[in-house]
Amino acid sequence: MTKFVVTPASRAQREAWTGGAIPDVERVRPGLWSIPVPIPVNPLRYVLVYALELPDGVAIVDAGWDTDEAYEALCAGLGVAGYAITDVKGVLVTHIHPDHYGLAGRVREASGAWIALHPADAGLLRERYDDEAIDGLVRRERALLERCGVPAATLDELAGASMMIRHMVTMARPDRLVEDGDDLGLPGWDLRAIWTPGHSPGHLCFVSPERRVLFSGDHVLAKITPMVAVHPQSPPNPLADYLDSLAAVGGLEVDEVLPAHEYRFLELAGRVDSVLAHHEERLAEIERVVAGHDGVTCWDTATRLTWSRPWETIPPFMRRSANNETLAHLVWLEAKGRVRRTPGEPDLWHP
Ligand SMILES: [Zn+2]
Ligand SMILES: [Zn+2]
Repeated sequence: MTKFVVTPASRAQREAWTGGAIPDVERVRPGLWSIPVPIPVNPLRYVLVYALELPDGVAIVDAGWDTDEAYEALCAGLGVAGYAITDVKGVLVTHIHPDHYGLAGRVREASGAWIALHPADAGLLRERYDDEAIDGLVRRERALLERCGVPAATLDELAGASMMIRHMVTMARPDRLVEDGDDLGLPGWDLRAIWTPGHSPGHLCFVSPERRVLFSGDHVLAKITPMVAVHPQSPPNPLADYLDSLAAVGGLEVDEVLPAHEYRFLELAGRVDSVLAHHEERLAEIERVVAGHDGVTCWDTATRLTWSRPWETIPPFMRRSANNETLAHLVWLEAKGRVRRTPGEPDLWHP
């Protein structure tokens, strides 16, 4: 099967991405700017923050990671567009991951902007970023990994694997909760929220039918597919949610997709189809592993799949993600009656 390749909307931005650089601040179209904000120690390198011009300032879609470098890049990028950080009136956060939500609190402190988030993600904040609640989250992650058959020797390491990034997120409460279909009410913008759970339970995309653009966050990206995983804070079948959410945006009539990573691109429908095809292939591969190894654990299934590099060279944090993504696919197959599980310690999977 030939893979569908999207057309970049900005060649310069695509070249910066493939060349390992940080792209320039770009005017996407009148009144709309793309501002790359660097992410520390992450292969994604930057998050694309979008600034939407308003009569009296700007609203931004996502904020970046909470580091001084990121904050300075955001301030400098707004400067290129002719604005100061104090001109920010609102921060529309696509989801609570630290590369999107991390800086929101600091932007509000500097400017008095409101922060908007979907209630499903707002509800996860306390447990995720509160020092007193975090122990409970790590315990539940450990129990989940145990049921997946993660070897006892690596359980603790994997269960606590994402704790080191927590200090990069300011614990900010949203001022506005945005639901599916809500009009954001930004003067001069017909911006509507689309709830797209999957990558995160409260992930939001924003569409402007008039300007024919979709702010897609991490939901639809040009080349990579976002992580969709079972974890203690996920709904029971996040992959089902994600695939439904792809359908929710696939038919939108837009000319350009403005994602949070890589580069902006054309051909939303084609990209949505290719992401759907990717998951179908993955589901079929996992089904084959279970068929060939009756009674396999989730962890052992994950080790038998093809990843972007050999399993032995994947670091612990990414192994946990790989395991939890595999579980999301197994749960989806189970719901469709394509695999069966014997619950236990660990759960065993059958064709
Ligand atoms: Zn994300
Ligand atoms: Zn992201």
